Amino acid sequence: MKAIRVHEQGGPENLALDDLPVPEPAKDDLLIRIDAAGLNYIDTYHRSGLYPLDFPITLGLEGGGTVEKVGDDVNGFEAGDRVGWGTCQGSYAEYIAAPAAKVVKLPEDVTTEQAAAVMLQGMTVHYLTHSTYLLEAGKTALVHAAAGGVGLLMVQVAKKLGATVIGTAGTAEKAELAKAAGADEVILYTEQDFEAETRRLTEGAGVDVAYDSVGKATWEGSMNSLKPRGYLVLFGNASGPVPPIDPLILTQKGSLFLTRPNLMGYTLTRDELDQRAGDILRWVGDGSLDLRIDRRVQLAEAADAHRALESRDTKGKVLIVP
Ligand code: NDP
Repeated sequence: MKAIRVHEQGGPENLALDDLPVPEPAKDDLLIRIDAAGLNYIDTYHRSGLYPLDFPITLGLEGGGTVEKVGDDVNGFEAGDRVGWGTCQGSYAEYIAAPAAKVVKLPEDVTTEQAAAVMLQGMTVHYLTHSTYLLEAGKTALVHAAAGGVGLLMVQVAKKLGATVIGTAGTAEKAELAKAAGADEVILYTEQDFEAETRRLTEGAGVDVAYDSVGKATWEGSMNSLKPRGYLVLFGNASGPVPPIDPLILTQKGSLFLTRPNLMGYTLTRDELDQRAGDILRWVGDGSLDLRIDRRVQLAEAADAHRALESRDTKGKVLIVP
């Protein structure tokens, strides 16, 4: 089978299209024929070495496909099941042997391609808005990169929960997309000072929570945009990692909360995974969560897709179709 592997850390040029044997599922695994894999920013951190892994690795955590073989100790799945996953390493490939514990069956009204487009980013948005900080009517959230893969989903789910959303975006076209997804206000943070704008839009009050996945370039402005006792949720490094933070700064800026979560930490049990995936897939199925597919590329074009994501050229989801 064809797979995109990385043999040593580096840039997109390090993505190799390799020929590998179709994997044999271990006793707790499912062998899945992959229809589509989702591209996520974390794949670039795995490639660059920002999040260290033992090389060689097959890239990609997210996808949708059909079960071909079931490991001896697996219950509840059979060949032919259509499935999705968001935390299984090795998804930029034609097949994956994935731990059944991390895979969910898809409802009839959700395609395997939709699953590849939503499992990781959708469940991320679910935990950030329902668990890390519970958004609800009367709360205001600052959402950076609101026209990105995570961003467009976050805006929609935050509005579903009744919150007020102030998004940021890098271009006017992206700002329009974030608005169309439901954002109450969008700040063009490449041209405007988003901290001053957030203060102005909240009549000086600041926001209850700042969801910041841009990292190095924005974390300080995000912190300065919060109400007293607000939540600074740092969850990504699109512009680079955030430097060490002295906890005393949280006192000085208004008794703030700081957290740095990831999806694995919020899908710790089968129940938790089923609950988050269940909500997200139900919303996709009933049409209340819109998925914007920016582009579909083949495995051999994965390096170009990385370049596009890292140069802020994408709007919504990029799919890799083997
Ligand atoms: P996006 O589609 O959001 O792409 C990243 C966006 O970040 C860009 O389009 C751009 O939007 C913005 N950005 C701002 N500055 C930069 C920069 N210097 N370089 C590149 N992009 C920049 O990606 P994803 O939806 O895949 O991921 C979004 C973020 O969420 C990532 O940081 C990712 O690591 C994080 N994440 C974290 C998870 C977790 O559980 N902790 C899970 C999933 C994602 P614009 O032009 O509008 O500024």
